[in-house]
Amino acid sequence: YQPKLDLGTGSISGVEALLRWNHPVHGAISPDQFVPLAEKTGMISEIGAWTLNKACRQMQQWRSDSVAIESVAVNVSAFQLTSPCFFDTVRDALDRYDLEPSDLMLEITESAAMRNPELTLVMLRKLASLGVAISLDDFGVGHSSLAHLKQLPVCELKIDRGFIRDIENDPEDIAIVLAIIALARATNLKVVAEGVETAGQQALLAEIGCEAIQGYLIGRPSPPDDIAAIASSYEAKRKNFEVSFTRDE
Ligand code: C2E
Ligand code: CA
Ligand code: CA
Repeated sequence: YQPKLDLGTGSISGVEALLRWNHPVHGAISPDQFVPLAEKTGMISEIGAWTLNKACRQMQQWRSDSVAIESVAVNVSAFQLTSPCFFDTVRDALDRYDLEPSDLMLEITESAAMRNPELTLVMLRKLASLGVAISLDDFGVGHSSLAHLKQLPVCELKIDRGFIRDIENDPEDIAIVLAIIALARATNLKVVAEGVETAGQQALLAEIGCEAIQGYLIGRPSPPDDIAAIASSYEAKRKNFEVSFTRDE
């Protein structure tokens, strides 16, 4: 899991589940390597359902441990979105672990959303009307049409890491990120920058109105206990700040 920091409140607003395959011989294998294979063989539906259930179970655990995390995000492949049983998979996982739909966010990449636009739109509308939040991942690098994107019931845009990497030195990257933030504001969407690695990037993003950030600076993808520790330390910082702010007043 990787934490996501809300720059407005200073709390860990959510976490994203990032899948790892711990292979007995080859060690940790990146999802970039095995997800495309799982998509090819059709195993992605099963793996996806397993991941979703694991993430929901973990969210229930954090809740019962009173860890201050608002929601858990799970990445969803294009193939899952076009499989009719995916809706039931999501609803069953929420029921099984006693979660509200708003405790869950599904991340779909801009290009996955364009793979089969009609079917995907139907599925996303059903999920959104259940109350599950939808985030558009890798925003800015897909070959998508704004006319189609505007129909999608998303509530968040995640700015692709590629625009963040050199943002401190590259005026074109700043211009693109500013444009995405403006687009998000105009359409009432939250905006998150991914791949934030330096305090300089964080300061710049805060200055230009980015609401939330995710990246190694806040925390690397880590096991659940580490996430709980990160969330608690941000909660403590936030409360300290509130106390000193009230005193100053
Ligand atoms: P993504 O959803 O765009 O996830 C962000 C990737 O960037 C993750 O790679 C994360 O570890 C990495 N990252 C996060 N912060 C930083 C940073 O500050 N610097 C750098 N250099 N990298 C950072 P990861 O975990 O290898 O995942 C790769 C992709 O695999 C994900 O990209 C996502 O599209 C896919 N994926 C991961 N888990 C799942 C899953 O459960 N299901 C499906 N269908 N796809 C998944
Ligand atoms: Ca993602
Ligand atoms: Ca991404």
